[in-house]
Amino acid sequence: MGLFIVLLGAPGVGKGTQADLISRELHLPHVSSGELFREAIKSKTPLGVEAQGYLGRGELVPDSLTIAMVRERLQRPDCANGVVLDGFPRTIEQAKQLDGILAESGAAVNLVPYIKAETATLLKRLGGRWTCRNCQTVYHVLYNPPREPGKCDACGGELYQRADDTPETHRRRIEVYLDQTAPLIEFYRQRRLLVEIDGEQDIQTVYGQLLAAVQRVAREQRIGAQRCIGCGE
Ligand code: ADP
Ligand code: ADP
Ligand code: ZN
Repeated sequence: MGLFIVLLGAPGVGKGTQADLISRELHLPHVSSGELFREAIKSKTPLGVEAQGYLGRGELVPDSLTIAMVRERLQRPDCANGVVLDGFPRTIEQAKQLDGILAESGAAVNLVPYIKAETATLLKRLGGRWTCRNCQTVYHVLYNPPREPGKCDACGGELYQRADDTPETHRRRIEVYLDQTAPLIEFYRQRRLLVEIDGEQDIQTVYGQLLAAVQRVAREQRIGAQRCIGCGE
């Protein structure tokens, strides 16, 4: 059974922040494709070397590379009971392939919370984002500051600004999102998996609405699981 959640929304809307909160609550792995790429770049693996230019320019890494990387991650045992996906899928092709990967173990996407905000909001959020080098917790200079400037509340690690957090790449990433990722909104709406959440609200309010949506789906799943697969009784 399990609970497979895909967080959808533009760069800077708060997917990583919310994925972190909800994955802790549900004890499910938080799988961020952006983070997997950044790890590969740091370790200079062949994938990292190949992906680096795309991240630097704010372009999408080609589907073949991205899908292979995420497939490998999802096939690890810790993902058997579900996962919170953040930043994947970003194209229709990735979404179709994700269905295939999950189907191999009898699973499927259960819920797609779509977090929405204005472009001006996204730019303000991206512009003030600081990330922990050690545990990847995300902060914002104004909206979610650490207790001590430059230092992670969770682990004491050093905070840094991502190499692709520059004004030019921000604009490019939002364009790429509108062009290649926004079609997923209709893709998942048609499958009745989409739940829209107003991302203009503060972090805790967004989280409350996300959690409510997840609990609703989890409840439906439990009820579904008690029914006979053959006759529905
Ligand atoms: P994404 O993963 O969608 O790119 P992040 O979770 O990294 O977004 O958030 C982008 C920035 O905005 C971070 O600095 C984060 O602290 C901040 N942020 C996230 N959600 C909110 C919110 N609801 N209100 C204000 N700031 C937010
Ligand atoms: P953000 O949190 O700002 O949305 P991410 O960390 O999710 O950024 O992604 C950073 C970069 O990694 C993207 O701009 C892109 O180059 C690459 N990337 C991440 N996920 C994908 C994906 N699913 N498909 C293609 N490229 C991706
Ligand atoms: Zn940390």
